[in-house]
Amino acid sequence: MAIWVFAEQIDGAPSAGSLEIISKAASMGAVSVFYIGSGSSEAFAALGAHGATTVHHLDTGDVLPSAPASAALASILHDTDTSLVLFGMGNTDRDVAGRLAARLGQPVVANALDVTLEGSVTSEINGGSLALTTRVTTDGPAIIVTRPKAFAAVDSGGATPEIVNVSMPDSGRSGNATITERHVEASDGPDLEAAPVVISGGRGLGSAEGFAMMDELAGLLSGAVGGTRAVVDAGWVPYSYQVGQTGKTVKPSVYIACGISGAMQHVVGMKGSQTIIAINKDPDAPIFGIADLGVVGDVHKVVPQLIEALKAR
Ligand SMILES: Cc1cc2nc3c(=O)[nH]c(=O)nc-3n(C[C@H](O)[C@H](O)[C@H](O)COP(=O)(O)OP(=O)(O)OC[C@H]3O[C@@H](n4cnc5c(N)ncnc54)[C@H](O)[C@@H]3O)c2cc1C
Repeated sequence: MAIWVFAEQIDGAPSAGSLEIISKAASMGAVSVFYIGSGSSEAFAALGAHGATTVHHLDTGDVLPSAPASAALASILHDTDTSLVLFGMGNTDRDVAGRLAARLGQPVVANALDVTLEGSVTSEINGGSLALTTRVTTDGPAIIVTRPKAFAAVDSGGATPEIVNVSMPDSGRSGNATITERHVEASDGPDLEAAPVVISGGRGLGSAEGFAMMDELAGLLSGAVGGTRAVVDAGWVPYSYQVGQTGKTVKPSVYIACGISGAMQHVVGMKGSQTIIAINKDPDAPIFGIADLGVVGDVHKVVPQLIEALKAR
C-alpha cells in the first residue's frame, strides 16, 4: 500500500512543513511525493534526503495550483493502491485536500497530530483539551491534513528520488484562475516558526509600545517575537505574529510568555516548546499550569530587569 505526500515549493525549496510530513511518511513505508513548483535538482535532492522514493512533479506556473494539482493527483491515485495521502495545513495544502476528497469521494481528516498506516489519526479538539482518535473506514486513500510541527523533519540521507514529470491536466473553469501578484511581508529577525527562542507578548503588555521591550529581549536572545490574538486584534502587532489555534504553531527550545493568560487557543500553538517561561502578575493565570518556570510579577518590571541582566553578561 503506497503512501503519498503533497508537497509545495516555497522560495525555490520544498516547504519546511512538507519535509516534516515526508519524514513521518518515510518511517511507515515507501513514499511518493506529489510536488508542485518549478522544481530543481536541489529541491528533488531535499525530498529524497527526507525519504521520498518517487516524485511526481507538476509545474503549474502562474496558474493557481489547487485545481490542476488536485485533478492531476486524483487521476494518478486512481491507478494506485494507496493507503494514505498526507497534507500540511498551508492554504494550498488545504485547498488541494478538499478538492481531492471531492474528486475521490473520500473524507478528509484534519488537524492530525499523528497518523498510522492503517488510517488511524490522533488529533485534539476544544483547543487541545480533548484528544481523540479517528479512523477512516472507507475503501480508498485516507486523506489526512496534519498540523505544522507535528513531526520532525529528518534528513536521513536518502538518495535522489525517481522524477516523473506530470503534464498540466484540464481542470475545467476552476483551472482558469491565475496568480497576478505575490506579496512577501517584510520582516527582520528570525522566522517565528523556525526560531530557537520565541518571546511572545500578550494583553498584559498594556499597549503596542510594550512590544519595544519584546524586540529588545528577542534581539539579545537571537529570538523572534510573537503575540496572542488579543494583541493582534488590538492592532499592536500584525497577524504574522499570532501564535495559536488560528495563528502559527511554534516549537522553540525556549518560549517566554509575557503578560499572556494562557487561553487554550494560544496554548495549542506553543505547548510543544521545550521550555516555557511565563511572566504574569496573576499567580492563578492558566499559563503557569504549563510553564516550566514562572515569574509572578509585572512585565514592565521583570522584563527590563531581564534585559539589564542579559546586557551585563
Ligand atoms: C476561535 C478562536 C480562535 C482563537 N485563536 C487564538 C490564537 O490563535 N491565538 C491566541 O493567542 N488566542 C486565540 N484566541 C483568543 C484566546 O481565547 C484569548 O482571548 C487570547 O489568547 C488572550 O490573549 P492574552 O493572553 O494576550 O490576553 P488576556 O487573556 O487578557 O490575558 C492577559 C494576561 O496578562 C496579565 N497581565 C496584565 N497586566 C500584566 C502586567 N503588567 N504584568 C504581567 N502580567 C499582566 C493578566 O493577568 C492576564 O493573565 C482565539 C479565540 C477563539 C474564540
